[in-house]
Amino acid sequence: MLATPWAIARMVHSSSPPAAATYDLVIQNARIIDGSGNPWFKADVAIKNGHIARIGKISSSEATTTIDAKGQILAPGFIDVHTHVESIYSLPAAENFVRMGVTTLVTGNCGTSATNIGEFLGRIRSTPIAVNLATLIAHGSVRRQVVGLDDRAPTPDELKRMEDMVGQGMKDGAVGLSTGLIYVPGTYAKTDEIVALAKVAANHGGVYATHMRNEGDKVAEAIRESISIGEQAGLPVEISHFKISNKKLWGQSPMTLGLVRDARARGLQVTVDQYAYTASSTSLDSRLPSWLRAGGLNEAKKRLADKPTRERVVTEMKDNLKRSGFKDYEFAVVASYDPDRSFNGKSIAEITKLVRHKSDVTNQIEQILAMYEAGGAGMIYHGMGEEDVQRIMKEPFTMIASDSGVRQQDESVPHPRGYGNNVRVLGRYVRELKLLTLEDAVRKMTSLPAQTFGLRNRGLIREGFAADIVIFDEKTVGDRATYDKPHQFPVGVSYVLVNGRVVWSEDKLSTERPGEALRGPGVFGHLDNLLGRCSTLLYSWNEVT
Ligand SMILES: [Zn+2]
Repeated sequence: MLATPWAIARMVHSSSPPAAATYDLVIQNARIIDGSGNPWFKADVAIKNGHIARIGKISSSEATTTIDAKGQILAPGFIDVHTHVESIYSLPAAENFVRMGVTTLVTGNCGTSATNIGEFLGRIRSTPIAVNLATLIAHGSVRRQVVGLDDRAPTPDELKRMEDMVGQGMKDGAVGLSTGLIYVPGTYAKTDEIVALAKVAANHGGVYATHMRNEGDKVAEAIRESISIGEQAGLPVEISHFKISNKKLWGQSPMTLGLVRDARARGLQVTVDQYAYTASSTSLDSRLPSWLRAGGLNEAKKRLADKPTRERVVTEMKDNLKRSGFKDYEFAVVASYDPDRSFNGKSIAEITKLVRHKSDVTNQIEQILAMYEAGGAGMIYHGMGEEDVQRIMKEPFTMIASDSGVRQQDESVPHPRGYGNNVRVLGRYVRELKLLTLEDAVRKMTSLPAQTFGLRNRGLIREGFAADIVIFDEKTVGDRATYDKPHQFPVGVSYVLVNGRVVWSEDKLSTERPGEALRGPGVFGHLDNLLGRCSTLLYSWNEVT
């Protein structure tokens, strides 16, 4: 039999004295779910210099280190496109994310981000972190800096300054623009202001990620506004934490998903993300009328000191509660309240009973106002229906994202999603409920987020791609974090690699900090102008910066 050149090369290799290994690491015997949605296949994966160097039959003698992943799934590391990790440099291990298989975070969501994107992403050089980091430039933070917390439109000059800030953020590497249209000051922006800023993001190839104006009784209107912003500004729309938080509208997700499908049918790129829980988590003040919050807390306190104004607030909040379909604030649970930490984990109804000895709605609202006046609270709202959560999850354009920050063990009683989101999908929704195939669930955590946010050479198991990898046991993978005890790490994840380096292995967190800043296309466009089209340089930009 004639030996092929390949076979000769291999023979020569195996008969020579042991040379330096070809690869840094080989992972053998895994079932590979490559992130595309395709069925798993069996192969070994070799890694060199942070990249996937080869996929095939690879012997341990070719690598310095070998991991035997027999019986386990190897997938691209999960990309969490909806996080709030502005504080990641103080918790660089990002343990809660790493241990559920997350290797890349997109932060700056819901209208809040760093305003100096270059500085924010650049800090990774002096303070290395365990995971890759990308960010959006946030409308709320920009508006706060230029217009303050006032309830008014920006002047033409102010709008120009906001556009310049967004443009600079994009050039410095933001992946798009985010809004938080229930928060101060984002809530004071009309659609045209956001279109103007989204156009700037569009010019730099960014996406528009939005925490919409309403996720309750006016959710359809809010979806239409989001789509229209994308259409007018000419950029993709990502609707954040897609949900229906109005009890009266539970079961209406075919309608809300239909609005997105219709937009896509018209050629508009609209996608959504979701966490796998029926409770949301945000600030207490999001329950209060936005006009009350104009100018910030001190202004609001002055208004609340005026009796007729306070009565008007109470009436509006009662109307809101009624419209949302909840009879009282039992569904609202405190996650963190600094003035009295004994409130953490208790509902507004319970707290009101403890403090005021009765718990009618008026007293509950007075309790909310008192807590707001004392500085506010982080909250968990049990406001969604499971049927809608499942229907949204099944939709092909839905990705899985946590909406979480970096967690400090045992600090407050936060939403469990920060410890369990991805693995909960794999355990509960794939294995137990069989709502999704494992391959599709992985796709929603890997290639779909990478495609949507323009994260080049990530989100797939492909030769040449970054070696962000998670290895898990599909029979045991799952979440343990609960609403009562959220600080519990998942089970079933055996290895997590970021850029080819092991950050989590067999129950041990490593001290490796291989995360990279992933810069958006604005940086590339900027460089293009300076250097001309140099595809090799652009391709490796993420790696060298
Ligand atoms: Zn949000």
